[in-house]
Amino acid sequence: MLLFGHVGLTIGLARVLSREVDVRWVAVASVLPDVIDKPLRYLMAPAFTQSNTRTVGHSLTVILVSMLVGLLLRRTIRGAGVVALVLPLHLLLDGMWVPDLRVSLLWPWAGNGFPPLNEVGLPGLWNHLVHDLCDPVNLAGELGGMLVLGYLWCWCGLSSAARRAHVWKTGMLVPVPRRERLQKV
Ligand SMILES: [Zn+2]
Repeated sequence: MLLFGHVGLTIGLARVLSREVDVRWVAVASVLPDVIDKPLRYLMAPAFTQSNTRTVGHSLTVILVSMLVGLLLRRTIRGAGVVALVLPLHLLLDGMWVPDLRVSLLWPWAGNGFPPLNEVGLPGLWNHLVHDLCDPVNLAGELGGMLVLGYLWCWCGLSSAARRAHVWKTGMLVPVPRRERLQKV
């Protein structure tokens, strides 16, 4: 899945589970496997990853360690339990259970033999994007994520710069009070 699917669906679920949760951390958690794997693939270790974009960061081991770190930071992260709980959602949305991705899912216990992807340069990146968007499940996820983000945008009145700044500063998604919403209508 791509950006909007991951961020939108994960923030939506986390906000349903907790009103207090810090959505800035939820946003980071929703894309953490890609934040780890994309630089590995494109900058740091293309040979190690065999040009595959789902490797170390998409493993159960790294997700479990990240969940543990999240829980240990519970004094710093508001709603750390929920942030830890939604971390594995990335693997679910990426469909990491298919046989092709098993080496990544079970890394390092199943070795480093990631299935090679031969996508070179910008055309390779473009093909990857088009391939992802042609998959109906991916497309539905992206649209679903956009819908959730759009709903939260309206519900929390984020067209107002002051309200956006508040989310940026506190990580709280606070709905516009009903009275205010009715006044606008
Ligand atoms: Zn991913």
